[in-house]
Amino acid sequence: MLVIENLHASVNGKEILKGLNLNVHAGEIHAIMGPNGSGKSTLSAVLVGDPAYKIVEGKVIFEGENLLKLLPEQRSHLGLFLSFQYPVELPGVSTINFIRTAVNEHRKHKGEETLSAGEFLKIMREKQSIVQLDKNLVNRSVNEGFSGGEKKRNEIFQMAMLNPKLAILDETDSGLDIDALRIVANGVNQLKSSDNAIIIITHYQRLLEYVHPNVVHVLYNGRIIKTGDASLALELEKKGYDWLKNETIY
Ligand code: ADP
Ligand code: MG
Ligand code: MG
Repeated sequence: MLVIENLHASVNGKEILKGLNLNVHAGEIHAIMGPNGSGKSTLSAVLVGDPAYKIVEGKVIFEGENLLKLLPEQRSHLGLFLSFQYPVELPGVSTINFIRTAVNEHRKHKGEETLSAGEFLKIMREKQSIVQLDKNLVNRSVNEGFSGGEKKRNEIFQMAMLNPKLAILDETDSGLDIDALRIVANGVNQLKSSDNAIIIITHYQRLLEYVHPNVVHVLYNGRIIKTGDASLALELEKKGYDWLKNETIY
């Protein structure tokens, strides 16, 4: 589904990703862990096509297409979804209209009919309940005045509405209390299928107790320096990242 080869990317003239390789197949959950500043959010920004990030070298193939040539909205239509570490607020844009527009755009691109108001509401109620989102939240501006937990649950709600092929969750767990964490994890588990894949970016092992990754990677200084199974996350929790500094396997 996703193949990243020797990816180098820079921001403001500074190289952040320094030869990153990653392979994700349908049906898999990958966790990417790593210390602050290692390039995790940069990787997600590059994948969704944030124009602030410059590709210096390398290749990214998603669903058989050269992802790096596509505009952000084309990437989204192909089935790529990013839940941001810091979800943006959109004052004046109601959440319900925002999501409805996105869902209908996606349907048009797939050659499907747009949803009637009634159909949309029915699906929306279903998906809201997955993350136990307050029903009235969708009448407010996107993320404006939402608590940290509401923002994160709103991200998973959007993901549920769009049903992406590949979802990247950038520290969706950070700042969540244990109940919100369980709700988010439960939502992710319900959305998981053999046709889609999820990349969970996280500092901590905590979320991975509830969402079980097939593969765990360590991103350090712009490269994946170690890959293992779920036990690697536990090892990192115990030992930190410093012992990996000199690893060159990726
Ligand atoms: P992580 O998500 O792993 O904590 P980031 O990808 O956010 O790491 O950041 C990696 C490095 O890139 C950091 O040193 C950060 O300061 C730098 N960086 C990220 N975005 C920018 C930017 N817009 N301008 C300058 N430096 C940036
Ligand atoms: Mg960080
Ligand atoms: Mg980050």
